[in-house]
Amino acid sequence: MSVQVVAAKMAEVELKDVPTGKDLSAGSPMSPTSEDKSLPKIDSFAAGSSGSAAASLTVESSAKAGDSSPGLLTPNAAKLPQASAMKRTDPQQNGGEAFVNRDGTVAEAPRMKKIQFAEQKQEFNKRPSKIGRRSLSRSISQSSTDSYSSAASYTDSSDDETSPRDKQQKNSKGNGDFCIKNIKQADFGRREIEIAEQEMPALMALRKRAQGEKPLAGAKVVGCTHITAQTAVLMETLSALGAQCRWAACNIYSTQNEVAAALAEGGFSVFAWKGESEDDFWWCIDRCVNVEGWQPNMILDDGGDLTHWIYKKYPSMFKKIKGIVEESVTGVHRLYQLSKAGKLCVPAMNVNDSVTKQKFDNLYCCRESILDGLKRTTDVMFGGKQVVVCGYGEVGKGCCAALKAMGSIVYVTEIDPICALQACMDGFRLVKLNEVIRQVDIVITCTGNKNVVVREHLDRMKNGCIVCNMGHSNTEIDVASLRTPELTWERVRSQVDHVIWPDGKRIVLLAEGRLLNLSCSTVPTFVLSITATTQALALIELYNAPEGRYKQDVYLLPKKMDEYVASLHLPTFDAHLTELTDEQAKYLGLNKNGPFKPNYYRY
Ligand code: NAD
Repeated sequence: MSVQVVAAKMAEVELKDVPTGKDLSAGSPMSPTSEDKSLPKIDSFAAGSSGSAAASLTVESSAKAGDSSPGLLTPNAAKLPQASAMKRTDPQQNGGEAFVNRDGTVAEAPRMKKIQFAEQKQEFNKRPSKIGRRSLSRSISQSSTDSYSSAASYTDSSDDETSPRDKQQKNSKGNGDFCIKNIKQADFGRREIEIAEQEMPALMALRKRAQGEKPLAGAKVVGCTHITAQTAVLMETLSALGAQCRWAACNIYSTQNEVAAALAEGGFSVFAWKGESEDDFWWCIDRCVNVEGWQPNMILDDGGDLTHWIYKKYPSMFKKIKGIVEESVTGVHRLYQLSKAGKLCVPAMNVNDSVTKQKFDNLYCCRESILDGLKRTTDVMFGGKQVVVCGYGEVGKGCCAALKAMGSIVYVTEIDPICALQACMDGFRLVKLNEVIRQVDIVITCTGNKNVVVREHLDRMKNGCIVCNMGHSNTEIDVASLRTPELTWERVRSQVDHVIWPDGKRIVLLAEGRLLNLSCSTVPTFVLSITATTQALALIELYNAPEGRYKQDVYLLPKKMDEYVASLHLPTFDAHLTELTDEQAKYLGLNKNGPFKPNYYRY
């Protein structure tokens, strides 16, 4: 059997301490040397160790005190995890969830809404006029943008009105298989990517470890995600691991044009620009998949549009596709629907519900970005301000922690006694919104619910009160109730409205009640690194999984892989993980190398 980096065996990932010579299996071709000790290692699958590609890998982590080595993957004969143990049910428990459309509006998704996508009858040779293309983007917006992205673009290319579809561009090597705004921005984009690389240590480590051994050799990945510097780091990592990539944007506004230019200059077939119309959006996706002499065998999707397009237009492609990795709530929901209907024809990985995504995106990302979003829009000082945070789940906890640290006086509202008690124990006053609404300076919703702040509350707020939402949808604040004739709206800054009452009182409404951090600030790259690493590992796993390991269903990544993703990020903090002794492992009934928690553990 040919020696190949089989990260597929990451399903069997085990966390171990830093390898010693003894730990490394004889014949392991990637024994660490002193120079590469600080890097994670994906060992080759030793030929013959199990006679099939189903042999497992061990991740040897950076656990040893004083050693910042993030981990190794070495062959090991651990049993395959039970596929059923990794399955889960549809995460959309609360019907009526709302999704942010690509035009920024939010649409409510009924409980078991039929999969519905943008108009499929598009004929790209009958292209609409420029104006026509624009207007489409307003009218058809089914896709979600419910993943979080550091989507700020620092390039203002609005002066160039020519549609990229009308331009003939080539990179410096004469390659023209891309469609982006302006290839001349490539140098600037490269700098953005280099900055992002510094905060994406796990991907960089995977790249180094994969040198010479390519777990994605032969993989043809078609992707549809936000095209940002962070995505570029992921794409270049996939390429370093052996994959060929073609990419489109999952959001018509979030593409960083300069980054797309850098990718195109680097030889990637990228079809995306900031401000695409709906027609452009589908055209770009089509250009990624409908190409002579190239057929994808892996899908990396964020929102489900790409998957849907292939289902509708090129269903036969699924014969060659080995799996789908999906990042977003919406896309995962669509996959579960397909699976329920018996229409999912390849295995899919639900990255959205990985512990490392949920915990870090919701808690830590919001803890970092709530202050950023408020500052950029209002320049408010937090010290001594009275703030009420509605909802003390992951997002609420993050917001409260940040505000408390800044010296704000924080109140919490909750409906769930457990979360309410947590808030109390964390030192926050638990109140009903009515009790504090007259006195607070800032109101933040993060419940995932609707009509948490209604007109009655808004009427009673004091002059200058800032109102914003950190939850997924714009249903939390009843913004529509403010659109009445007696109230005047004044746009004072981008994403900042003053709503003025007849007596002169004004409240400061941010992002019209849409998700504040996504609308008004960026998201920390390090958080995206965690998600991107999970995506990369999910691709590797699905691509290398032996026949039969995954069926035509939706799977969660094995917990060991979540643990591995976390371990790859520990060296950034010079963190020293404690290693279980044999005696302790026995006492706890754990494998010394993980997984360390049962699947139901909540963290
Ligand atoms: P969660 O379920 O952990 O927390 C929500 C909390 O709100 C729960 O504890 C619930 O009991 C409480 N709640 C519900 N209705 C309420 C009401 N009327 N009044 C007071 N409390 C109420 O969810 P989460 O992970 O904290 O996410 C919250 C929202 O934020 C979701 O919509 C999620 O999609 C979104 N989200 C945003 C970001 C971001 O970057 N802004 C990141 C992740 C998730």
